[in-house]
Amino acid sequence: MTEPSRLTRALHTGFHVDPVHGAVAPPLYLTSTFTFESLGEPREHDYTRSSNPTRDLFGEAVSELEGGAGGTVVASGMAASSLVVLSLVGPDDLVLVPQEAYGGTWRLFDTLAREGRLRVEFVDATDTERLTARIAAAKPRLVWVETPSNPLLRLTDIAAVSTAAHEAGALVVADNTFLTPLGQRPLELGADIVVHSATKFLNGHSDLVSGVVVAGTPELHARFRHWGNVLGVTGSPFDAYQALRGLRTLDVRWRRHLENTAAVVAAIADHPAVSAIHYPGLPDHPEHDLAGRQQDGYGALVSFELAGGRDAVARFLDGLQLFGLAVSLGGVESLVAHPETMTHASMSAEARERAGIGSGLVRLSIGIDTAEDLVADLLAGLDRAR
Ligand SMILES: *Cc1c(COP(=O)(O)O)cnc(C)c1O
Repeated sequence: MTEPSRLTRALHTGFHVDPVHGAVAPPLYLTSTFTFESLGEPREHDYTRSSNPTRDLFGEAVSELEGGAGGTVVASGMAASSLVVLSLVGPDDLVLVPQEAYGGTWRLFDTLAREGRLRVEFVDATDTERLTARIAAAKPRLVWVETPSNPLLRLTDIAAVSTAAHEAGALVVADNTFLTPLGQRPLELGADIVVHSATKFLNGHSDLVSGVVVAGTPELHARFRHWGNVLGVTGSPFDAYQALRGLRTLDVRWRRHLENTAAVVAAIADHPAVSAIHYPGLPDHPEHDLAGRQQDGYGALVSFELAGGRDAVARFLDGLQLFGLAVSLGGVESLVAHPETMTHASMSAEARERAGIGSGLVRLSIGIDTAEDLVADLLAGLDRAR
């Protein structure tokens, strides 16, 4: 038989690893500590903060999908970003961060910079020419990339940014939460490190919070494992067990997410209550061509603006049956969020304005429900919002 695909290998991670009972699914090792064989003879694992067999399997599977050298599983997506920053950046180092980064990421860098622990510059990561020129001039330590962005789904050219960053001696970190490794593989495009909020599509069931750092080289992976233990940010084995279980269906979920989102976008784009729609799959999206080059598909997030502002948003939301009003995304269920007051409330008002997040903006995370039902629910809401 030929070598199985990366997807097959990843989704088989941990099957048939139980030598005692031959369990098909991997055992869940709920233990804080492991005995030594004898004095001076530790086993493979000695303490769960540093490593745990169940948690390591989830890291391996995500790394396999990303084409990485290893995955460190941590307590949340923000723990993943914190681990990268705390293990690589010093007080004199500059980090370039997209101005419309995930709200928590924006707050992490803003807070660390205010306390003098690093230097940060928030940049327009969609303007490739200006960004690459800034990288060459400023010589940052890290260039942070989050593409598609949240909530406007603008794209950053990962290959172009990576080339410029490497010429300037910088490392590129890509937050790949929105597309999963099935939709985009930043390491193949030149990035050095990938971070995930596994809370979202990787686990896919909205029942835990988790994060993964995937390193492009064994040296970086060793560094993240070391610092994960030093800082104590590693994730719980139970959550990793659940997340690996969720990951096994990622491919089938992802296909349905994409199919449903395309159906929703086609149905709502021309509704009179909608003054703008943001989705990389639309031909008039500013980075539509780039999406075709660097992504497989267009993702399961879509945002749009209601011409009637915040009042229209309230009317739209009041009566939706199938969309929960909640932050987060990437679960089997569909969610709706109002970025100004929810996901991006931790940003300053000026930063929000610069990022283009206004009162009428709504973000949808499209689940794996039946597309016709989602469309009917949304169209009824848009009629109320007129
Ligand atoms: C949710 C999210 C994070 C943070 O992850 P948590 O698991 O909530 O800590 C980071 N980046 C993106 C793009 C996210 O959507």
